[in-house]
Amino acid sequence: MAVKVLANDGIAPSGLKKLKENGFEVDTDKREQEDLIDAINDEGFQVVLVRSATKIRKEVIDACPNLKAVIRGGVGMDNIDVEYAREKGVMVSNTPAASSQAVAELTMAHLYSIARGLYDSNRQMPVNGATEFKKLKKKYGGGTELRGKTLGVIGFGRIGQYTAKYALGNGMKVLAYNRTRKVVDLDLEIEGVNASVNIETQSKDHVIENADFISLHVPAQADGKAVIGEGEFKMMKDGCYIVNTARGGVVDEKALQEALETGKVAYAGLDVFENEPTPATELLKNDKISLSPHIGAATAEAQSRIGTEIADILIEHFK
Ligand code: NAD
Repeated sequence: MAVKVLANDGIAPSGLKKLKENGFEVDTDKREQEDLIDAINDEGFQVVLVRSATKIRKEVIDACPNLKAVIRGGVGMDNIDVEYAREKGVMVSNTPAASSQAVAELTMAHLYSIARGLYDSNRQMPVNGATEFKKLKKKYGGGTELRGKTLGVIGFGRIGQYTAKYALGNGMKVLAYNRTRKVVDLDLEIEGVNASVNIETQSKDHVIENADFISLHVPAQADGKAVIGEGEFKMMKDGCYIVNTARGGVVDEKALQEALETGKVAYAGLDVFENEPTPATELLKNDKISLSPHIGAATAEAQSRIGTEIADILIEHFK
């Protein structure tokens, strides 16, 4: 009998096609969280595919004895009780490498956007561009350049390293901090010309104190604590820029607002928020923050890679 898969947060056509070709039955209709247990049991789903929206907590695992596998299309698995599921014999996997490039590119987009006030200029130009052109030109004319500046990368795993490569390719210097020390050769390929840049991670204080721009690439912390809070903001250069495309809460939002108010931080870029999907309105209304709604991995290319990776994992698991 075909293995029934509920792709509750969607799946790219590449993955859907591959799964169907290999005999899986895939349902892509979204079930609300409160209807999930009934759907899994009544319709006989053995596999649930999630992104970040659907939560697979202990209660779901306990209530669904026929559930065999949960796959997170993407990286962070904080919406799944991973250890508990595995103890109960449910296979849990993510697709760790497929989205690194997409998140790194969004990080660069936020960095360039805040360096030139582009995100805010895009808000003002349609409304006031025709009547206040000169005023807006003055307002957004005080930009800064990335080339020659130092990017501090906090969390030097897959995405941190990808971001470092983009930053190096854009002429930035890179300082990196990781919880466990790493020495990494980053291979850059530019039009067939290869260059390798060796980066050794430094202390957190050193990175924070010396960076002009800071970018976060750590997972949600097990203790729920922020990696960048009041103390870290104090250590930053005056007028530092910060981007968080990692997870809501790894930068303390209240401390960030204060740092933006005092000018300690000039501008920030946020893709992730403490209280998704209802982020704090003070953040959304702050004209010093470039915003995106958790779309780091949401490129066609990354979703396609994720889809294929999910299919490969399931084909291997159920063969
Ligand atoms: P990874 O596991 O390859 O790298 C994370 C690194 O952070 C590891 O090297 C780890 O040692 C380090 N680390 C953990 N806690 C730390 C701390 N407190 N201080 C310093 N270093 C610490 O993961 P990745 O693939 O690079 O992804 C990183 C995070 O990006 C994910 O966990 C996820 O939360 C986030 N992410 C966001 C999006 C998005 O849509 N915005 C998409 C994918 C991933």
